[in-house]
Amino acid sequence: MKIKKAHFVTGIVKGNEHWNPEVPQVAFYGRSNVGKSSSVNALLNNGGLAKVSGMPGKTKEVNLFNINDNLYFLDLPGYGFARGSKQDKQKLQDLILWFIADTKVPNRTHVMVLDAKVGLTELDKSTLDFLYRTNERIILLVNKIDKLNQKETSKCFQNIQTEIAGVVELLPFSAKTKKGVNEFWKLIEQKN
Ligand code: GDP
Repeated sequence: MKIKKAHFVTGIVKGNEHWNPEVPQVAFYGRSNVGKSSSVNALLNNGGLAKVSGMPGKTKEVNLFNINDNLYFLDLPGYGFARGSKQDKQKLQDLILWFIADTKVPNRTHVMVLDAKVGLTELDKSTLDFLYRTNERIILLVNKIDKLNQKETSKCFQNIQTEIAGVVELLPFSAKTKKGVNEFWKLIEQKN
């Protein structure tokens, strides 16, 4: 897909749905530091749209981006960062679960970003359990694939395959080298 324009619309907090329900959505999840912001930027061909932070765990809202006036990207807060109070973590989890379980639009794709070196963590798996229940499309974007050699890459994908418990599509990706960007857009265009 050619990105003609992409801009940040607003930060969404629990209970405050600032989107047009007619517009298809692609929602991004991931542990802090997996490269979620870098991946969103790579997909939008834009160095600074989603904030790429040196310090993970800053985002506290669902960041809504308007793409070409016919698609939304929703960047959910990164989870699993060690710093921050128990209360803060609970608030982030509530926001993510509210978004997954309590908001509904006719066309939504969920994209979970993983670090290829780390694979699926327990937190990812529990988030996936909520995503399976939506019966909506799930893509696992396996980022930082540039850090692995061929052998490590196939091991990584084998491991992920054994850990998933629902229907997901796997996408090898690198925000750094832009590997997987075209394939991602093909997957999205297949559906919309
Ligand atoms: P976020 O917290 O998930 O949004 O992660 P960021 O996008 O801020 O990235 C976290 C760190 O991972 C940064 O140092 C990035 O430069 C690095 N990073 C992100 N994507 C890649 C990738 O595809 N390959 C490599 N080697 N590093 C990456």
